[in-house]
Formats: sequence, C-alpha cells, structure tokens
Amino acid sequence: MEIYLDNCATTKVCSQAADACMKAMTEQYGNPSSLHKKGVEAENILTAARKTAASILNCDPDCIIFTSGATESNNMAILGGTAARKRDGKTIVTCSVEHASVEHAAAFLEKQGYTVKRVKPRTDGNFAAEDFINAVDDDTVLLTFMMVNNELGSVLPYEAIIPAVRRKYPKILIHMDAVQGFTKFPINVRKLDVDLISFSGHKLYAPKGIGGLYVKKGVRIEPIIHGGSQERALRSGTQAVPLIAAFDEALKLCRDEGTKFMETYRFCNSYLRQAFQKMPEVVINSPENASPHVLNISVPGVPSEIMLHFLEQHDIFVSSGSACSKGAKSVVLKAYGLPEERVKSALRLSFCKDTTKEQLDVFLDTLEQGIRRFKAVIR
Ligand code: PMP
Repeated sequence: MEIYLDNCATTKVCSQAADACMKAMTEQYGNPSSLHKKGVEAENILTAARKTAASILNCDPDCIIFTSGATESNNMAILGGTAARKRDGKTIVTCSVEHASVEHAAAFLEKQGYTVKRVKPRTDGNFAAEDFINAVDDDTVLLTFMMVNNELGSVLPYEAIIPAVRRKYPKILIHMDAVQGFTKFPINVRKLDVDLISFSGHKLYAPKGIGGLYVKKGVRIEPIIHGGSQERALRSGTQAVPLIAAFDEALKLCRDEGTKFMETYRFCNSYLRQAFQKMPEVVINSPENASPHVLNISVPGVPSEIMLHFLEQHDIFVSSGSACSKGAKSVVLKAYGLPEERVKSALRLSFCKDTTKEQLDVFLDTLEQGIRRFKAVIR
C-alpha cells in the first residue's frame, strides 16, 4: 500500500479529470482558435472551464486567464503588473515566506532597481495585518503575498490586509498567490477587492502544467509572453485544451465536494496531532489555526532526509519542505523563526481527499520505528 502524504507538492489526478483529458486529446483535439467545428468544440471546453473557475471566485469568466501553472501566473502578475505601472512607484511589498516563484520574481525586479520590502512574521509565527499595511507607502506599486503558506499551512490574514490596504492606497496593485488555499477557503472577489489571484491545477487533483490568473476587470498588466493573442493577448500560445478540460473537472469536484474534503483534512490533522502528543520526540511546527491539509513536524536530531528516505522504504511519501526547492534546507521555516534544529529535521505531511485513518496508523507506526532506529542519533 502506497501512502502518499505529500499533497502540497502535488496531488493524484482524479478520475474525472483524467477521463476528460483523454477525451480532449483523442476526440476533441481541435485548436480552439480554428474557425471550423473542431475548433469550436475545443473552444467550448475553454469556455466551460473559465465559467467553472469564475464560479469559485464569483467573478466574470472573462477575468480568468489560463496559464501553465502558478509559477507563470505569479511571474505574470509581478512582472506584468509592475511593467504596466512603471510610473506609479518603485516599491514592492511582499512577505518573507513566499514561494520561490514570487520571491525570485520580486528579487529579479530588485536587481532592476525596485525596492522590495519583505514583511516578517511576528515572534509567535503569525503575520500581523498592520505590518503589511504599514509597509505600504506612496511609492508602492504592488503588494504581493500568499494566502496559505505551502510549508506550514499558516493562513495569512488576507481578509484584513486587502481591504485595509485598498482603503489607504486605492490604486495599488494587489496580488495574492492562492495556490494552497484555492477551493479550500472561499474567495469572493465581489467582497475581497483583490486585483490578481494565482492558482494551480495540480494541487487540486488536476494535472501538472495548468493554472490560472484572475485579473480584475479594468486592471491592466503587460503580457510577458507575446504571440497569437490567445487569452485576451495576456498569455499567447495555443491553450492546453486537454489540461484545461481536466482542470474543469477537478475544479467542479473541489467546488462541489470541497466541504467534505476539508472535513477529511481536518480529521487527518487532528488525528495526527493527538497521536503526536504521545510521541515526545515529535514537535509540531504548524500553528493550531493552519490550513488542515498541512501538518509540519520535526523530529529534532533526525535530519529530514534520513527520516524521509526511511519512510520511503516503507512506501510512505512525505516532504522535507517545499518540493520546489529540492534538497535545500527550508529558508521559509527559518524565516518563520523556527530553531535550526527543527528546520533541519522538518517533515511536511499533507493530506488529500482519499487519505484514511488506516494509512495514518501505518504512517505513525513506521515513524515510531524510525524514531527508535535513529534514537541513538537523537541523543
Ligand atoms: N505558490 C505556492 C504557494 C505553491 O505552493 C506552489 C507550488 N508548490 C506554486 C506557487 C507554484 O505552482 P506551480 O507548480 O503550478 O508552478
């Protein structure tokens, strides 16, 4: 039995999405820009998926731009957003625990002469909305921050930050990387006045290589990819119709069954938290109020990789941090103020809709075995 507890890195594609993908590849294979029937058939797939994504954000379907994933969406928002507002300011406000696709895009602009302010968490590991609000000033052109952190699951106070910044500086471009929160927590853009939202398919049971960017009506960004003017000329290139067909199915599944999925994540999270209370070697890194689909722990003294590969030998798959910074020690956990010992031994457990109590029991038994085996190293 394979026990996959690395769903923050990526998820298994749901059967509805895989079937839709296959059908679009083998039957509905037209180019959505073609004028004939096969083209219209493919275009209908895009229209349907745009409508589904829009129903999740409560926006107009025209506001959804399909991309190759959130890395592209984030680059589009940050590079394209600032490029369209060159005269509006030279400061970007973000936070110190961003995904590499935001941090590196911001650092790229820093090299071009922008000032990047990185808001830090408070000593309790939480971000304070005031710290974002105070970081923004007259020179700020863009505020970009994540909704849910991908390593700890911490939920940033986006519902406090966004309206407060909007009130103080109505013209600032506000971008949220919603990858780990999309379809897990409601986002209603008719209430939350955000300009740009990134999301990704492979975190929610769709294939890798498909994502989207919500662009509020009237908000202008410069395209970073030029070509045949697909996706309102914001993202040229023939759309990945099979992936978009799959994305549509996965989005519908998460929209319609999301509450049930969250209950599963909540169950897994509290089941493990309870079990860890009886395991003195385990320290929990995720805050109590983190998104329930993630639980980050440490076994101080046992380096992450050692435990990760021990679990792997038993067909249990976890992560030592973000999959995107392969092998590297987590700069994010460090930025959250975790002691070095806990950073070095961190394990990220992340659940999916199909994670079961039986799987968690096997994981716990195996983790115990690992702790016993490596105990000599611990002290
Ligand atoms: N932002 C966050 C918070 C993420 O967790 C990820 C994926 N690890 C990304 C962006 C990048 O998404 P993608 O893999 O679709 O490029």
